[in-house]
Amino acid sequence: MVNLREVIVKAVVEGLRVASILLPPDVKEALRRVYEEEVSPAAKAQLEAVLRNVELAERLRAPICQDTGLITYYVRAGARFPALDVVEEALVEATRIATKEIPLRPNSVDPITGRNPGDNTGRYTPVVVWDSIDPKGDYLEVTIVPKGGGSEYVAVFTMVPPGRGLEGVKEVVLDAVVKAGAMPCPPTIIGVGIAGTVDMAVHLAKKCAVIRKVGSRHPEPAVAELERKLLEMVNELGIGTMGMGGRTTALAVHIDYAYRHPATYAVAVVFQCWAARRATVTIKPTGEYSITQ
Ligand code: SF4
Repeated sequence: MVNLREVIVKAVVEGLRVASILLPPDVKEALRRVYEEEVSPAAKAQLEAVLRNVELAERLRAPICQDTGLITYYVRAGARFPALDVVEEALVEATRIATKEIPLRPNSVDPITGRNPGDNTGRYTPVVVWDSIDPKGDYLEVTIVPKGGGSEYVAVFTMVPPGRGLEGVKEVVLDAVVKAGAMPCPPTIIGVGIAGTVDMAVHLAKKCAVIRKVGSRHPEPAVAELERKLLEMVNELGIGTMGMGGRTTALAVHIDYAYRHPATYAVAVVFQCWAARRATVTIKPTGEYSITQ
């Protein structure tokens, strides 16, 4: 009988290797497009360096960035997947093995003692988000996101006075982009979450920044239009690639929302850097698995 715990470990180590080394095709395509469109020589030189970096990582099978990130796993599972009970321990083990084998920089640090266990694990680390359960499914899907500290550092959460509504959201986003400057290594992908509670706003913003493909639009036309408008406004700020000016500060603005309480209007902004790493591993009960980006 197939040992699904072993399969999960093997598949996730492989997925982490793919995510750390290969930039997803939608991000690569977007970077190439903005390189072609760039008119500022300084920004164009930076974009050229970024694209060369991406190519070298592929060729040398080396991580795209020296900051190999803190690892988050977004888990979507079918309720009929037969090994749900061992998923979390398998993800921790995969993280330990991948840190040694790829190798990944040991980035997880105890905030109380300052101790670094050296294997990217620790209390609530890697971060495991049980994103959804499909009542009829029998698969396990893990989206692997190794995310750098520079882009996470500039995330913003605030409560907007409910009367300000979407004008308030625009202000929060533009203010966050200006304050972030070059810190998140632009061009970035900006995730915006609007909700009634702090946790939901941050959760939605983070998913928008790290999981949604560049080039996708929110299915609701009004939200899609707000994404388009905000991207235009962000790029008019002129911060540009690595803060060197030029046409592109962000590759995309992705927005999602949840219903709110009449008295609350929670807005979160999460940045993803140009090294927008992700890979999704899908495992069947038979032990077969695939990796997509
Ligand atoms: S923000 Fe991204 S590209 Fe910049 S150093 Fe961190 S991981 Fe690397």
